[in-house]
Amino acid sequence: MFRPGTDESNVQYEDVLCNYCHRPWDPDDPSRPMVEGHHGSHMCGECLSIAYLATVIEGRDDREPGVACTMCLVEPDTLFWRSPEFPDACVCQACIKRSSGVLEKDKDYTWRRPQG
Ligand SMILES: [Zn+2]
Ligand SMILES: [Zn+2]
Repeated sequence: MFRPGTDESNVQYEDVLCNYCHRPWDPDDPSRPMVEGHHGSHMCGECLSIAYLATVIEGRDDREPGVACTMCLVEPDTLFWRSPEFPDACVCQACIKRSSGVLEKDKDYTWRRPQG
């Protein structure tokens, strides 16, 4: 998501907010990268770690029928994680796994998926 009032023709790092914790992107923090979803949605590495742990490792499911994933805008038949801080933001396990792969391959970042 973008900070309200963001100049769309001149988006800065700090205008990019994580949909799940609303913290801005800090390009100087390699442990908290940002991964992009559809329609300007973003998820930071910290929220991704929490979501990965909850769904992939613990098997938790916050799914609510009829609510689409904030990142891919569909409702795949899989586990969902919902932000405890901003409950209108949720993410499906497919996006969690895909995002984890993207971030781990990015050499600018030190992010690694949590181990069980
Ligand atoms: Zn976040
Ligand atoms: Zn998704």
